[in-house]
Amino acid sequence: MQARITKVSHIEYAHRILNHPGKCKRLHGHSGKVELTLSGQVQEETGMVLDFEVLSTFFKAKVEKFFDHFTLLQEEDHIKKVLEMAGQKIFAFKQPPTAEVISYHILGLFINEIEERFPAGNFSCGVKFWETESSYVEVRS
Ligand SMILES: [Zn+2]
Repeated sequence: MQARITKVSHIEYAHRILNHPGKCKRLHGHSGKVELTLSGQVQEETGMVLDFEVLSTFFKAKVEKFFDHFTLLQEEDHIKKVLEMAGQKIFAFKQPPTAEVISYHILGLFINEIEERFPAGNFSCGVKFWETESSYVEVRS
């Protein structure tokens, strides 16, 4: 018996996209919604693919802790140093901090977490990242 489970969480963040032709080049904020999805076998003993609490704990420890109320920037962005000197929390990516890049980063962390629990590799992870109420990115393993 297979099932797909999803946990929904939220992060507040600021970012800007260097060299963007429009308004996204200016520093601005989002209330992002993150949907973590895990597909796998329902375990005989527990009746679950995985306890929702595991997804919740993962999100708090690996995503919320490094992204929530942070400014997400590209490493080369010159405002990074200024904001750090002002005591702001920064997370810097090699690539522009777009919804796609953020989604793949979260997916990588999520796969690492789940791999330890499903050593046989019979699972699939997904991240659906809502940057606004009308725009989202979806990535899968
Ligand atoms: Zn934005």
